[in-house]
Amino acid sequence: MTVRVLGIGAAAPELRLAGAEVGAAWGRSGRGQVGVCAPDEDTLTLAWQAAVRALSAAGVEPDEVDGLFWGTARPPFAEGPSFAFLTAALGCSDAVAGGLSSGSPHAGMEAFGAATDAVAAGSARVALVVASDAQRPGLGTSFEARCGAAGVALVLGPETTDGAATVGARVTRTRPFLDRYRGDGEADIRDLYDARLFREEIFLPVVGEVAATLAAFDVNAWSLPDPDGRLGAAVAKLVGAGSPASTAVYDSVGDTGAAAALLGAAFALDAPGRVAIVGTGAGRTTGVLLHAEIPVPGAARVANDLSGGRAASYPEALRARGQLETTGETIPMGVPPESAMFVRGADEMLGLLGGRCVDCGTISTPPSIHPHCINCGGAKLESVSLARAGRVHTFVVNHTMPAPFVAPLPIAVLDMDDGARLMLQAIGDGSDIEIGRRVELVLRKYAHERGVPVYGFKARADKDRGS
Ligand SMILES: [Zn+2]
Repeated sequence: MTVRVLGIGAAAPELRLAGAEVGAAWGRSGRGQVGVCAPDEDTLTLAWQAAVRALSAAGVEPDEVDGLFWGTARPPFAEGPSFAFLTAALGCSDAVAGGLSSGSPHAGMEAFGAATDAVAAGSARVALVVASDAQRPGLGTSFEARCGAAGVALVLGPETTDGAATVGARVTRTRPFLDRYRGDGEADIRDLYDARLFREEIFLPVVGEVAATLAAFDVNAWSLPDPDGRLGAAVAKLVGAGSPASTAVYDSVGDTGAAAALLGAAFALDAPGRVAIVGTGAGRTTGVLLHAEIPVPGAARVANDLSGGRAASYPEALRARGQLETTGETIPMGVPPESAMFVRGADEMLGLLGGRCVDCGTISTPPSIHPHCINCGGAKLESVSLARAGRVHTFVVNHTMPAPFVAPLPIAVLDMDDGARLMLQAIGDGSDIEIGRRVELVLRKYAHERGVPVYGFKARADKDRGS
């Protein structure tokens, strides 16, 4: 059965680190730039943002998704509810199937393959593929100036749906070799032991073979892996292709691990034609063809979503990645992430739910703290997903925060478009927050406690001040 692509979305992190900054720290030259997560971003917040955009582009509601397939080299919980946190934050049904692929940068292609198979087999009518990564390179490695972060998502449906592209041939190879890796319990990725051995005996033979198989079709554009900034072009040359479409993505956010292969195809999907996508890592290489009959919804805005970003210094990037930490005491949260408050409040925090009064329509938030309507006192409240856009009612900027929080920290009271009133942290230093300002809510990491992330929504000021 034919599988169709209904929409695509992408997400880039907030920070950009120049290769020259990394090089200067180690007495080398450096070029290009990579995307780096701000302290409150990670692979899950990037996955969420890309998925929200893909669903919106496809015109698909989160509860229409039967299967979510997420690929990320390093899930936010080494062992834990990563998948369930993502589906809850997206507002998917609690009956959503699918799975989480991890442990290598090939995970994104594994998620794509599983989603395609689920739709083809009929076990999922609408599948959401999400590939994201926020890798942590070893300090001083050559990978450091190449290692980026980003997310990409595609919505897949059966042939009866009105998709813009179809999924074509797939080819895969496995070979048991060790390239970049992390040992058990290690936080940072070790670099290639022998870059020349990798290039000549691993990368070019295996990736070249997969690419050559796809090149037998009439390919218009390529997304090729490019772990060092030169290997992508080398493979393109092997198969007689011009400059790969993925080069523009690598130039703006670097090697984004599990997201790289699918994200590298995003620009090319904005035009009709056949796009060949090759992803590799940790002994596996997979290639797939997508045939766009018309531009894929969402592809046109990807360039904008990957552009921009705030330039970060090398020390700022290290702090954001958790590789440069302050010594001394930090104040732990009073309630552990696995305690009753988080267990009972997880759905309303991640799904951003409120309680709407059946009698008067007023929305009370958070529902676990307001069992009765804040307007009429009614006891019959129904759970509703809150609006994700609104306006600043009032705000404060807190200038004295105990570690691990960082001052200045803006906190805003918001009047949402559905009438709900919320108090949330705002992104940034508060300089772009003002009363009446339009905001949208985005998923961010509030804290990292006892080894695990704590997520919630934050307010982000609309770029165009809007009225
Ligand atoms: Zn009421």
